[in-house]
Amino acid sequence: MRYLDMESSRPIVVAGPCSVESREQLGEVVQALSRVPQVDMVRCGVWKPRTHPGVFEGKGEEALRWIAELREGYAGMRFCCEVARAEHVELALRYGMDGVWIGARTTANPFVVQEVTEALRGSGVRVMVKNAPSPDVQLWMGAVERCRQVGVKDIVAVHRGFDMFSNGGYRNSPLWEVPIELRRLMPELPILCDPSHIAGRREPIGMLAQTAMNLGFDGLMVEVHPHPERAYTDAGQQITPAELEKMLDSLVVRQTDSTVADGQLQRLREEIDVLDGQVLQALAARLRVAGEIAKVKERGNLAVYQPKRWEQLLQQRRLTATELGLDPDFVEEIFEKIHAESVRVQLGN
Ligand code: PEP
Ligand code: MN
Repeated sequence: MRYLDMESSRPIVVAGPCSVESREQLGEVVQALSRVPQVDMVRCGVWKPRTHPGVFEGKGEEALRWIAELREGYAGMRFCCEVARAEHVELALRYGMDGVWIGARTTANPFVVQEVTEALRGSGVRVMVKNAPSPDVQLWMGAVERCRQVGVKDIVAVHRGFDMFSNGGYRNSPLWEVPIELRRLMPELPILCDPSHIAGRREPIGMLAQTAMNLGFDGLMVEVHPHPERAYTDAGQQITPAELEKMLDSLVVRQTDSTVADGQLQRLREEIDVLDGQVLQALAARLRVAGEIAKVKERGNLAVYQPKRWEQLLQQRRLTATELGLDPDFVEEIFEKIHAESVRVQLGN
């Protein structure tokens, strides 16, 4: 990682396999991660929340035993796992885990969060709270508050994206404005980004991690597997330890102290990135609707290009543009491009 300011604190990096699969897989990934200096804690999925039953659901207590045995050979390395029930917390603590995380589906259920946090009372471990699948900052904060209530001191939020109707090419929509709102409401709370679960595939992970740094996140949670293509869970989104190292080395960690020169510029650019993300999300949603329209036209035996509708739409957009203080010619130009793409989609070209 390159630091813009050597005084800025080191980002927190939590990395490790989506799931612990075998003693050998765990040993291989831990050995590789022990050589990546930025890694602060190893994540190890032990109980896996799966959408469908009858598939691999984690090795449970057996995996905790492997972790406990393995850690003997790695002084100073810290480990964490997901907990979704009080019983998971009891086992995680019994096997000496240094941290736990509350998964997205658990954060969505305050009854379960209450039960899990009660079991954590007095434990002293780090607790990471993932956002719920819905973009509800209050639900996320509620889980953090429940951790505080039982005296957890080391609490970290994890942004893993949101399940929206359309996710703009990602597994989960990043909706950066939600963690930004959490930062505003809980300024002292460290926030990590989980680019693996946002992306759902390997390629955009580096770009998402850099966006998180640009937005002033405090670190990353990344899924790392020694042989991602063979992974039992989330095979498409895990990266190798070598890829993690390369990514961390090329990340630029941003200065978040806005009192330094250019702080204002930085904030404004971040705002622009978020807005551009929204523009792109809206464009993607619009083109999906165009695809639906194509089917309706086909059924009704209507031509794809409807000149009257296009003329009306253009005039309306020019009017709205003027009302918003935008140059109507500029807006017309943009809509010409959008319309051309919509026609192309409807023609299936
Ligand atoms: C995970 O981190 O392995 C996981 C299941 O993630 P999430 O709760 O974000 O879906
Ligand atoms: Mn996963």
